[in-house]
Amino acid sequence: MASTLLTDTFRHKGLRKKLIDLLRTKGITDENVLNAMNTIPRHYFFDSSFLEFAYEDKAFPIGSGQTISQPYTVAFQSELLQVEKGMRVLEVGTGSGYQASVLAEMGARVFTIERQKLLYDNLKSLNPPLSYRIRLFYGDGYAGLPAFAPFDRILITAAAPFIPIALVAQLKIGGRLVAPVGKNDIQIMTLVTKLSETEIKTETFGTFRFVPMLTDKAQDL
Ligand code: SAH
Repeated sequence: MASTLLTDTFRHKGLRKKLIDLLRTKGITDENVLNAMNTIPRHYFFDSSFLEFAYEDKAFPIGSGQTISQPYTVAFQSELLQVEKGMRVLEVGTGSGYQASVLAEMGARVFTIERQKLLYDNLKSLNPPLSYRIRLFYGDGYAGLPAFAPFDRILITAAAPFIPIALVAQLKIGGRLVAPVGKNDIQIMTLVTKLSETEIKTETFGTFRFVPMLTDKAQDL
């Protein structure tokens, strides 16, 4: 993460509490999600010159043309995922590492993949107390992490043009995969439940806006 100002003051805590109250008014009810987001200092994932934006319910640029997702989106995806302590969770699109930290705080064992080298390199400085349950990988989210499969949960945090079949294969039976699916500006939040080796159930949950899931490495330059 870019911030060098890793102090969590009463002011930050107060702003965070207000953000959590706002998420409640927007319909988030999962106390595990809300507690985790109340615990993780989102401003740690910002450049110090932009700290005042950290507790607004907005997405924000993190470099390399990418964004840290809007808090409501992080909360919505985390709630839909139904994470329980000790679960193996694969995240596609590490970005700032904030979503991964929220999942880790909820007790998940997080494996997260980032496609862009610059962002991945920044993540090596993830604050150790937050990163104890997070394993970072530089790679392609479409391929997942077959060597570490199966996963209880898979979360895609970039706009997926389709549900990658390799990821469904890496999901446990009964497992849940959450992804914003769509080829244009707007995506449909999609929950895939793996019913058996050959059957899935698909449910949709409204529209969101994510940066695209990349299919090549052009952005590495
Ligand atoms: N979860 C992040 C926000 C994600 S933004 C956070 O909490 O900050 C989407 C991220 O997905 C970007 O960092 C982008 O570089 C990454 N990404 C895009 N295509 C990818 C792919 N094919 N595999 C892995 N990561 C990808």
